[in-house]
Order: sequence, then structure tokens, then C-alpha cells
Amino acid sequence: MEKFKNLGLSPNTIESLRRKGYEEPTPIQEKIIPLLLNQKKDVIGQAQTGTGKTAAFGLPLIEKISCKNKNVQALILTPTRELAIQVAEEINSLKGKKRLNIAPIYGGQSIELQLRKLKKGVHIVVGTPGRIMDHLQRGTLRIDNLSYFILDEADEMLNMGFLEDIEEILSHTNDNKRIWLFSATMPDKILNIVKKYMKNYEFVKVSKEHLATDLTDQIYFEVNESDKFEALCRIIDVEPEFYGLVFCRTKVKVEEVANRLIDRGYEAEALHGDISQHQRERILNKFKRKRINILVATDVAARGLDISNLTHVINYSLPEDPNFYVHRIGRTGRAGKEGTAITFVTPSEYRRLVYIKKVSKSKIRKEKLPEVSEIINAKIERLKSELNTIIEEKDHEKYLEIAETLLNEKDPKEVVASLLKYSFNGEFDENSYGKIGKVSINKHGKTRLFIAKGKSSDFDEKKLVEFIMKKTGLESLNIKDIKVFDNFSFLTVPFEEAEVILRYFSKHKRGRRPLVDKAKERKRGN
Ligand code: ADP
Ligand code: MG
Repeated sequence: MEKFKNLGLSPNTIESLRRKGYEEPTPIQEKIIPLLLNQKKDVIGQAQTGTGKTAAFGLPLIEKISCKNKNVQALILTPTRELAIQVAEEINSLKGKKRLNIAPIYGGQSIELQLRKLKKGVHIVVGTPGRIMDHLQRGTLRIDNLSYFILDEADEMLNMGFLEDIEEILSHTNDNKRIWLFSATMPDKILNIVKKYMKNYEFVKVSKEHLATDLTDQIYFEVNESDKFEALCRIIDVEPEFYGLVFCRTKVKVEEVANRLIDRGYEAEALHGDISQHQRERILNKFKRKRINILVATDVAARGLDISNLTHVINYSLPEDPNFYVHRIGRTGRAGKEGTAITFVTPSEYRRLVYIKKVSKSKIRKEKLPEVSEIINAKIERLKSELNTIIEEKDHEKYLEIAETLLNEKDPKEVVASLLKYSFNGEFDENSYGKIGKVSINKHGKTRLFIAKGKSSDFDEKKLVEFIMKKTGLESLNIKDIKVFDNFSFLTVPFEEAEVILRYFSKHKRGRRPLVDKAKERKRGN
């Protein structure tokens, strides 16, 4: 608590923090809170998902807002309704005795209800851009007397195409407000907003060593696509207390995986964009209360979920975008707790894994899937320890008499064995697991690349290498066999480097053909 006190927070909020069980500030909180309290400048905060950015701006906001003033004094924009609700809840839970009104304003909730709240006087509005725009157009929300304009998860917001809405909303605000912007990443698109709207600002970044991902053990398994489901079951079964999110790229896959899990007797649910808000809240509730321990989701559906204590995040399929990978695994190991991120990699996904490793600078180590015998052993060990607990806690005394009757008539071994069969039918049977095939991934090969530039564009061997390194950001290149012709060139690089180069150039195309491509077979030897 001492550390929180030193940041300049009031006894009231310190008391709420104590009740919430936050013992010390996270690194971003430590840096941001004093800055925001002193409010001389606009502030940009960058830190990975799960590092406590909400409280980093929520706490200063609580301190700064005046309850007497009935205007909306702070507007917080979030990309999803889920997040709007979460941010409002977090601030509410931190406000302590201060009589602040905080309203989440999002699409999907009745406008009438929101109007009633707004009429009563709200100090802090947390909203999604669409619904905020609705209220502005109806004249039911005034934001021309703001002290604070806050963009939360700014990168997500831009990814979801909210730039124009944000600009429109900003145009309704007064000039003399502070802007606070929070984001896990800082792509150019955000820096453009910063340049346009923020003048005198401070940029606070929490460096890599403090990232949530560092608390996550990252491993991958090589599997064939058709064996992924079996592999998933093995991983869940070998864990004593699996509590995890399973990510798939499409709704169809999410449904399929969740249904197969349920069919096999697991407590699982699916979460994706076609699930109604009502249903969604019900599922999340079940998951939070651990009534189910597996949630299968798409990236979009899982955006902004605030669920802590996950033991596992599983990438059933790899995301296209490395940022998504970081986001996904940022959900385990939150706020100081360790977690495991597991990625399934098929031969055709291997390239993407290499790319993600490079871009996200993640250490992802390869492991072997647990053998069926290991899982059965783990289950038996678990059973033993549970039996021990029951016996120690004398939770079985009611049954002693029945036990005696059963044992009177039969051999004890027979009795226990049939009880096992009766209650765990198939659980300890190796045959209830499917086989998992061998995978072959070629990682050590080399790739010959074609570059649509040559002597006519003033390229020679050295310039070509420099050009590729500069564009792709690769720090070293292991190039062999360069040939520069008048209008094109060829070179050979190791598989992994080729992947990074090809990825880069497929995203930065000029015209129809990428500047760098795999050399066609027949050109080999050129
Ligand atoms: P971010 O916005 O950076 O992704 P959140 O604000 O959602 O992160 O916080 C992630 C989790 O960490 C939440 O469950 C939150 O309650 C918890 N948390 C935040 N600050 C602290 C703290 N100082 N100590 C312990 N837990 C914290
Ligand atoms: Mg956040």
C-alpha cells in the first residue's frame, strides 16, 4: 500500500484499493498516476494488455473529478461494449465513498435507460463511439465542458475503423480539455491522431521486461490439422486444473471445437460474433464463476474480456496478425500470475509461427504432446490425492457402513475396480484417446527469392542486400548465391528469413505483383 500512497492518492481511493486486494501499483500505474494527478500535460500511455491501464487512468480521474459540478467532465471511449462495461465497473469499484456517477453508454442497451441516467447527471461517461454519436446527434449528451477526453485501447479502436467517429466526437468537445490516450501498441495511425490533436504531451511507455507476456510460458506443439482436437483433449486432461481460453480464427471452427468438447463431456462454451449480447453475458458469467472451465472464442469475441487467473491460453489456430498473438497470450499471466500459452502448429502454419516469433520477439519453445499413458498416470495421481483429501477431511464417514457391506461379500480389489468402472467409465482407458500422427515440417531448407529490381534500377549485390535489410528490419541476412540482372535479381536465404522477407513484401505491394516473390522453379539456376 505504501507505494500507492506515495503516488499521491487520497485515503479514500487507497481504502478501495485495499478492499480490491491491489497490493502495489503495476509499472504503468506507477509512472502514469503521478503525471495524471498533476495534469499539466496530455498523456499517452503504452503498455501491454493486462498491465492495469484502466486503474492507471481511473484512479487519477476519481481524484480529479468534482462531484458538485453536474456536467459530464470525462468521456472515455472504448472499442467494445464489453470494455465500456468493464471500465465503468473498475472505476466504480475504485471510487470508494466519493459520490461519482459513472455511466457506460453502449449500443445494444436501451436508449431510454441511458437517457434517464444522463438526465440525472453523470460525471464520467464510458462509451463506444457509435452510441456516443447517436446521443450527440439527438442532443442528449453534451461534451463541450469536458476536463478529460480519454481514448482507451486506441489501437483496437483504429483496427475496428473508428477513426472518423473519434474525430467527429472530438469536434463536439471544448478545446481546453486534457487528452489521455492508452494503447497496447503504437502504430502510425495513432501517432497521426496524436500529432493532430495533442499538443503538449508526455509519452509513457512500459518497456518489455514488465510485460504480461513475460509471465507466460510459451510453448508450441507440432500437430497435423486433423489431430488438433485430440491434442487439445490431451492437454486439458493432463492439467490438474485447466481453466483456459481456446482461440480459433473463425466462428465455424469455434462452434465445431466447442461442440466436440461438449460431446466428449467437457464443460465448454463457444463465444463468437453471432452470439447475442444476453447469451454472451450469461456465458461469461459461467466462465468467470468457473461453472465451465473452457471457453472457445474468436479474437473479436474475446476482445477486452477481463478474466484473470487463466491457467492456459490455447492457440488452436494461429492468428494472421502477430499483435493478436500478443493480445491472446496477454490474457494469461495477468497481474503477476503465471500462465501457459500453447500454440498448435501444422506444417502449413509453421511459416506463420516463425513470423510471429520474429515480430513479437517472443520466446516460444517446442514441446512434445503428452502421451496417453502420461495422461492416465496424471489422472490416477489426481484421484489418489483427492481420495487422500476426502479421507483426511473425514468426508466419507457416511459411507463406511455401505463399504463394509460391499467388502463383506467380495474381494476388496474387485470392489474397488468395479467402483472405478462405475464412476469413471472410460476415464482411465487408453483406448478412449485417439492416435496422433507424426508431423513433418521442413525448417532447415533454403528459399530462392526473385526480386523485381536489377541493374536498371541501379542495384548491385551490396545495394540489394542493404535494401532488403532496411525494408524488413532484419538485422542479419544469410544470403547465398546472389545474381543481379538488368531488370530483376535472385538470391537464396534460409527458410526463416525468407518468410519474414516474403511477408513484408506481400503487405507492401506495388502494383499487382510483390516486389519480392518466391522464385519460380524453372528460373532456378539463373
Ligand atoms: P489493461 O487495460 O492494461 O489490459 P486492465 O486494466 O484490464 O489491463 O487490468 C488487468 C487486470 O489486472 C484486471 O483484472 C485488474 O483488476 C488487475 N489489476 C490492475 N491493477 C492491479 C494492481 N495494481 N494489482 C493487482 N491487480 C491489478
Ligand atoms: Mg485496457
